[in-house]
Amino acid sequence: MRAEAPPAGYSPRDYVPPPLADRAEPLAALALDAVGSCNIACRYCAESATQPRRRPMSEETLAAAWRLLFPDGRPRPGCSLHLGSGEPLLGLPLLRKLAALIERHGGSAAEGRPEVHLTTNGTLATPAVRDWLVASGWRVKISLDGPREIHDRWRIGRRGEGTWERVAAAVADLAARMPERFSVTAVLCRGADPVEVFAGIAGLGARRIELVPVAHDDPQVLPGRADVARYERFVAAYARRFAAGEELPVLIRFAGKVRRAMGFELQRVPCAAGRGFAGVAPDGALYPCFRFVGVDGFRLGSLAEGPDSEAAAAFRHGAGRPWEEREPCRDCWAAALCGGPCFAVAEMFGPGGSRPFALHCDYVRADARAAVRLVRRLSRRDPERLLAFVPELRRALDRLEV
Ligand code: SF4
Ligand code: SF4
Repeated sequence: MRAEAPPAGYSPRDYVPPPLADRAEPLAALALDAVGSCNIACRYCAESATQPRRRPMSEETLAAAWRLLFPDGRPRPGCSLHLGSGEPLLGLPLLRKLAALIERHGGSAAEGRPEVHLTTNGTLATPAVRDWLVASGWRVKISLDGPREIHDRWRIGRRGEGTWERVAAAVADLAARMPERFSVTAVLCRGADPVEVFAGIAGLGARRIELVPVAHDDPQVLPGRADVARYERFVAAYARRFAAGEELPVLIRFAGKVRRAMGFELQRVPCAAGRGFAGVAPDGALYPCFRFVGVDGFRLGSLAEGPDSEAAAAFRHGAGRPWEEREPCRDCWAAALCGGPCFAVAEMFGPGGSRPFALHCDYVRADARAAVRLVRRLSRRDPERLLAFVPELRRALDRLEV
């Protein structure tokens, strides 16, 4: 069944996000396009389909990006750096420079040491690299599409060989050694059973799992109606198992919807791209986020000249507009739980006019529907269990009890 109508008892009027200021915000996060290329050849790669080839980033550009984020050289609390376009582990020397920069200027967590988030395909995460990642304190996400037979259908090397073996070894190791800082993202393509995907990744020990529908234009790759229906059943069953008390790995996107269904973090945009978040190209050009790097029409300034406030304002009113200024989002029952479509996916794969990519909406509403039902059910029967989704509240309550 398609998740078009809200679940019984859900009223969008009860979920009103705070207003969104229409102004440039201080930069709090940068995505660094450290290498601009990848070492494997996933059949569904969105980057290779939408972004031009880029050269690796130089040390000088890295230093200039650091100065843009921290004009006085000293980190501020709440800032972060993201390494995820291309395959960042191809640029290990530059990553080590970044680690050294943080070591030199980053201070302690309390003093504002920036968080670093690294997304990798895992194929270059050798035991030595994994030791380095564990010691780095960085957050690491590996892309793994589930068990070998699903993963190797899509995530292949340049000669068409499977990559599961190497990636699964890295997942199992990092999941065991840094469970709180580690997660796995699986891309759901046509025919992939989310039950098998989730179980395959959980079986390697991962405690945080993100399932993401593919963004593509090939019907051979895109999930069909049967796949969406399978996902709806999967997430509904996950919610029931959670409600029954089972200890399960965190299903990251669903957990976000549960937080919002509880009233936390309601948003009018899906992310801070083009507002407090920017992507830095290897040549120093600035974009709303890493998915826009090098794409014509989305340049928002450069490290040399600084952010372009006119281009940023045009982005906020165009591709980066809030959901209440989009069709069909303004009439979507799940809008406040969704936050609106990924700007990049809407622009590159949507039907035009900044309308969302409809397939992704089906997945979002499946998560939102299951989340609303879970919150309703647990708030009646076992409200304390809901605190698993808001650990900061759990910790605050624990402190009050002491
Ligand atoms: S992106 Fe899709 S699911 Fe999200 S608010 Fe818009 S229509 Fe609804
Ligand atoms: S626009 Fe999309 S890819 Fe870019 S930061 Fe936002 S959600 Fe992520």
